[in-house]
Amino acid sequence: MAILREELDDWLRIPSVSTGGGDAAALARACDWVCERIDAAGGSAEAITVDGGHPIAIGELRCSRRDAPTVLSYGHYDVQAPGPAEAWDSPPFEPTERDGRLYARGSADDKGNFLPLLHVACELARSGELPVNVRFLVEGEEEIGSRSVLKRLSAGEDQADCAIVFDSLMIDERTPAITVAGRGLARASIEVRTAERDLHSGLYGGAVLNAAHVLLAMLHEVAPDAAGRARPELSAGVTPPAPGELESWRRLPPGREAIAAVGAAEVTNGAGDQFYERTGAQTGVDVNMVSVGEPRTIVPSATRNTAPYSGFGCSRRACTDVMCGTRRRQA
Ligand SMILES: [Zn+2]
Repeated sequence: MAILREELDDWLRIPSVSTGGGDAAALARACDWVCERIDAAGGSAEAITVDGGHPIAIGELRCSRRDAPTVLSYGHYDVQAPGPAEAWDSPPFEPTERDGRLYARGSADDKGNFLPLLHVACELARSGELPVNVRFLVEGEEEIGSRSVLKRLSAGEDQADCAIVFDSLMIDERTPAITVAGRGLARASIEVRTAERDLHSGLYGGAVLNAAHVLLAMLHEVAPDAAGRARPELSAGVTPPAPGELESWRRLPPGREAIAAVGAAEVTNGAGDQFYERTGAQTGVDVNMVSVGEPRTIVPSATRNTAPYSGFGCSRRACTDVMCGTRRRQA
């Protein structure tokens, strides 16, 4: 355990920020750090780049059994910029323990999550007990859209029998979870222009198109209904949850509590009882931002366009014993 913690501190101290242009030297160091660990455990690893992107650590630990399946394990060594220094109680790249928790940029996303997997796989390989071939793919662009990895994967590299992504959530401090499927994400920026310039609402209101009203009418057409359900066309092709998934969700803390814990309100009475089904197996539609107008007497002529965004939707989660087993082995 002490070794694992030392390793984690070492990795967290590398300020491998990828956002805002990134820190190339630190990114390379964090990537090499992964390769060195795989090499030292008797595996093979190298840092590769795709079209000049941030390096990806590609490695493999082989099991001695010939017919063993190959598991691809994904993680990312890049982190987001730490933001204002005064918002941190301890420096973002100096791991600090407070009340049993470790604080540092990347401690929860994704170095802290991924390291136990890397560590255990390396230990099992060293002792000749690795039951499967483990292929690693640890990237440095997750926080900025994963371009290099997507190119590499779509080129058909890194074939495996299954993949595990070590970059997701636990249900709570005591309930580990394995995410078995992810919601996809489609996003659109809508810009509405209704006139050459803003006009005085006293002189023109009621006779000309108002960009804010047009936008609201458009959003009304695609927004979920009062029960929070997306339009049927937007849910076409959705796979209903399997009985095993429904059963695993019943073992999780009540959805009502999960909603209350973040200070939110149910979209409609009883929606909390379907929390996991709604967030794990159904289509969600959310307006992220509306930007139009000024606080004075105008008829707005255009909405303001917002910067493009990339990110991932929520996930389908299941409480599993597999993960509990892994955790016991680490302890
Ligand atoms: Zn992450």
